[in-house]
Amino acid sequence: MSTPGQMKAKRNVPTTSMKTAETARQPAGTHRRLIGKKAPGSVGAETTRRTLLTMRLLATLAVAVLMVGEIPVGAESRWLSPVTRNEMTFPVARSNWYSVINFRNDWHAPRMRLIGGLWRQIGVHEGNDIFAEPGTPVRAILSGTVERVGWTFYSGWRVGIRGTDGRYWFYAHLRQFAPGIRVGAPVTVGEELGYVGNTGYGTEPGHDGEFTYHLHVGIQEPGGAWVNPYPLMRRLYRAAAEQT
Ligand SMILES: [Zn+2]
Repeated sequence: MSTPGQMKAKRNVPTTSMKTAETARQPAGTHRRLIGKKAPGSVGAETTRRTLLTMRLLATLAVAVLMVGEIPVGAESRWLSPVTRNEMTFPVARSNWYSVINFRNDWHAPRMRLIGGLWRQIGVHEGNDIFAEPGTPVRAILSGTVERVGWTFYSGWRVGIRGTDGRYWFYAHLRQFAPGIRVGAPVTVGEELGYVGNTGYGTEPGHDGEFTYHLHVGIQEPGGAWVNPYPLMRRLYRAAAEQT
């Protein structure tokens, strides 16, 4: 990253070195003095220039902080409380400082695999992927009872909950589970189930790193058919964004 000061110095180099060959051979310290030399009566202008440079530096730092997601010094970080609508909530927690949540309708997107040197479609995506920062709390969309917890090849660490509506609510690729999440445990809407990770696509439990951090959400009807969670996720996300 270039600071505004460095950028200023770079811009000044060609102008100074083109004056004479003798000037160009002068040590760097001399150059800095020449550049910084004040004209009589220009104290106010110099102060303004310094203030502007300081402001630019601060702005650059602020942008850098936002880009890496660091919490500003002195700020209290916290996860926002779940916002419920029709007794349901968006499954990925939002924060008060910075949180990237990204999702689109990827229902039935083709799933390909290299077989015998050729890419072949082995299935379609039966859910909705919500991309978020690793470690972001994953919350129960709807109340219910934990039906499955553990490792599967494709889903990694996953939780399956039988919702109060009779449907099976599936959360996959978790980094880890929240305390108390075990088969038979009751969960209430908004309760922490685990944390966003990128586990899966491996036989060894805990295998990760094969794809970007995200939560896979699946909804299965009692009859066994999976349905597209995206319209509901969109509604729940909007409800949360409006209130927080
Ligand atoms: Zn998925």
